[in-house]
Amino acid sequence: MPENNLLDSALVRLDDAAKHINVDADVIEKLKFPRETTKVRLMIRMDDGSRKSFLAWRCRYDDTRGPTKGGIRFHPDASAEEVEMLAFWMTFKCAVMNLPYGGGKGAVQVDPRTLSKAELERLSRSYMQAFSRIIGPDRDIPAPDVYTNSMIMGWMADEYAQIVGQASPAVITGKPIALGGSLGRGDATARGGYYLVRHLSKDLGLDGRMRIAVQGFGNAGQYIASLLADDGHKIVAVSDSGGAVHSANGLDLEALLAAKRDGLSVTATAGKNGHEVIKADDLVSVDCDVLVPAALENMIHTGNAASVKARLVLELANGPVTPEADEILAKRGVVVLPDILANAGGVTVSYFEWVQNKQGYYWELEEIHTKLRTIMEREGRAIWELSLSRRISMRTAAYVHALSRLAEAIEAHGTQNYFIS
Ligand code: NAD
Repeated sequence: MPENNLLDSALVRLDDAAKHINVDADVIEKLKFPRETTKVRLMIRMDDGSRKSFLAWRCRYDDTRGPTKGGIRFHPDASAEEVEMLAFWMTFKCAVMNLPYGGGKGAVQVDPRTLSKAELERLSRSYMQAFSRIIGPDRDIPAPDVYTNSMIMGWMADEYAQIVGQASPAVITGKPIALGGSLGRGDATARGGYYLVRHLSKDLGLDGRMRIAVQGFGNAGQYIASLLADDGHKIVAVSDSGGAVHSANGLDLEALLAAKRDGLSVTATAGKNGHEVIKADDLVSVDCDVLVPAALENMIHTGNAASVKARLVLELANGPVTPEADEILAKRGVVVLPDILANAGGVTVSYFEWVQNKQGYYWELEEIHTKLRTIMEREGRAIWELSLSRRISMRTAAYVHALSRLAEAIEAHGTQNYFIS
């Protein structure tokens, strides 16, 4: 087994899926290990003239179904173990959506808030210099992740163009529109989750006006709240790192969005339209129909899973429900739409960006929305049917769905000639 506890915990999902599908043992053995993880030390010049070094990684977990795809995270707690676990998830997420990609991930161990803009640019460019032999439009395609954004992707795309001597926008996604970014990338993660809930709501017995609680009011959280509110659903609670607000009659979404635009916590809206401040931890136990974790990992755990009142959990965050909490929720009849399906709208529109870059032909927003909806509904429906026919959770069904595609590709390649570095 890999010597990586984080990856070990992710592999529990693989073992679970393998019980429900007849796949060759070679396939499982191959998927237990990353194909390659490269570690470098980036050395950059700081504004005061000194030099500083930062650890950085790029993992290509599995490339059987296509070039590896996955974001680059800038975080002080980044580690090789975390990068490999996230790359494993990306492998399954891309397979769930039937995107022609394998899974990858990258990271730099840095707190980007401590760097000036010029230092951040030098760090981003040095990442691309260090990994330019691994990264490539047909080999490994990064994207933004925690604390990286379109500006950083633009710098990296520019650096890559200088290295290879020609514009090569398909090397990275999540770029600014001016450099070949796609329309519709900003809200893609939330929009994918929204299409999924809308499509399955009748099957889930949620066809009326729903009450929604959103944990984490950042990119994904703000967009999902807006999309659901536009359809007439009621947002009854939201939280951010500064606390949470609740109103059984429905929160004033405009006031919440305005607070975030002003750089404030959602708690700054306390008192408006009956907004009542509650503890951030209490958000998961608010009386609602749909709970949307859109903040961090492991937020629903053994300590609070039994208090969840929602009938549906839509995982916009990656890994917000621990495996133990999953069991508690399942016993209580709470349906969890798992991260590798529910938040896959982001990587799907990244795929659209890559396709447009390769074609040199750019689509209208409406076309992007239609294509995203088609894929979310198609894969969501298939996983729903699988979960019903096998009497398994949506999470296990999503892993089975992805594993069958991965197994087919691995077997088609032949399992003899792989090497793990
Ligand atoms: P973000 O940084 O824009 O927002 C995160 C939000 O969570 C912030 O409002 C922050 O204040 C809040 N938060 C932090 N700690 C909290 C706590 N203890 N309690 C409540 N709220 C807390 O990030 P994002 O891009 O919206 O991503 C959120 C999650 O969705 C992450 O898990 C990310 O990996 C996942 N995700 C995002 C995308 C995307 O395209 N943005 C794609 C796939 C998955």
